[in-house]
Amino acid sequence: MAMSKTSIPLIHHGAHGKTVCVTGGAGFLGSHLCERLLAQGHRVFCLDNFLTGSVSNVAHLLTLDAFQLIEHDIVDPFPTGIARCDAIYNLACPASPRHYQADPVATAKTCSIGVLRLLERAKADCARFFQASTSEIYGDPEIHPQREDYVGNVNCVGPRSCYDEGKRFAETLISDFGRQHRIEVRIARIFNTYGPRMQADDGRVVSNFIVQALAGDAITIYGDGSQTRSFCYVDDLISGFLKLMAHEGPVPLPVNIGNPAELTVAGLAQKILAKTGSGSTLVWHPVPVDDPRRRKPDISKAISLLGWHPRVSLDTGLDRTIEWFSTGVKQGLPMASLPVLSNRPTNTSSNWQTPF
Ligand code: NAD
Ligand code: UDP
Repeated sequence: MAMSKTSIPLIHHGAHGKTVCVTGGAGFLGSHLCERLLAQGHRVFCLDNFLTGSVSNVAHLLTLDAFQLIEHDIVDPFPTGIARCDAIYNLACPASPRHYQADPVATAKTCSIGVLRLLERAKADCARFFQASTSEIYGDPEIHPQREDYVGNVNCVGPRSCYDEGKRFAETLISDFGRQHRIEVRIARIFNTYGPRMQADDGRVVSNFIVQALAGDAITIYGDGSQTRSFCYVDDLISGFLKLMAHEGPVPLPVNIGNPAELTVAGLAQKILAKTGSGSTLVWHPVPVDDPRRRKPDISKAISLLGWHPRVSLDTGLDRTIEWFSTGVKQGLPMASLPVLSNRPTNTSSNWQTPF
């Protein structure tokens, strides 16, 4: 495995650099977050059980003194030997329906026992705690777009419940820890996010459609394709995470982070076919149980509280993602071992007070 230095300019871990733990750090979003934290001068402990993540996602970071990768399941007691953390970002949880439904009991334990263990460590360390929550909190929403004060429409006994209800319980636990134990907590409700390092076999719609289009395989549309999603490019999302975590003062929990540009699944298929020049046909499959019909974030709170809004259009983000996947196809590489993008924004500020 190549261990070359990353192409991202990284600064040395300095006096202002914080010690940060990222759980699920070897996954799609987690690996991008680790890169950005390192670029800001922080020391990063990356904890992952490699259920859906992979060492190759962070292989380019392994030679850095400020980065340490530890195999760990968050359901187990927090590992010894990790310095006191200033911040804990919890991203550990399979995110694709295919993966979180494969072992639903493990998913529920990750969202409950796992989050409890991390909160206890955050309390002991007086660390600021960040939770990667989800738009699945809203279930199949009855209001549109979804604001944070909408309480949701979730089936608590269906095949998505291990994840939806798991994340809802995690939000409860985190809010109560914040109130009862006075630890600083941040909850980001993430809407569908895509970009380089999604697993090719992850099962999510953007990666499925791109991989199918590049291979000339049929594009699998579940249902009639009229259901909608709003897709956010990964770099925008991570900027939102960093701004939320850097925000001082009381944060009205939680905050939607996503791109409000909404389109149908069939519309996404047409866009990807056009961009790849693929001759793939469309094939229709039954719609999954409890599949939300519409989803679009109201991001007023993120705009007013954090001054954050997405900057990367779906066209630009898809072009970058298609390029990344097609590089892997040409080189015959496993998708997770593809190169770091060179156009990533960098920031050398190394203090929480200075948002990204
Ligand atoms: P991912 O599957 O690529 O990453 C999840 C990571 O968590 C993987 O590296 C996996 O190995 C690790 N993990 C899973 N269970 C673990 C456990 N018990 N202990 C330690 N590590 C564990 O998915 P992602 O898209 O990067 O999602 C990251 C987080 O963001 C998840 O919590 C997910 O629920 C949330 N989220 C993502 C999206 C999205 O569109 N990508 C949307 C909403 C929420
Ligand atoms: N979907 C689809 N074909 C696929 C994968 C997904 O039509 O090959 C649909 C899925 O039914 C859902 C939408 O695309 O309506 C988004 O699915 P994904 O699994 O990416 O995310 P989530 O359901 O969690 O929003």
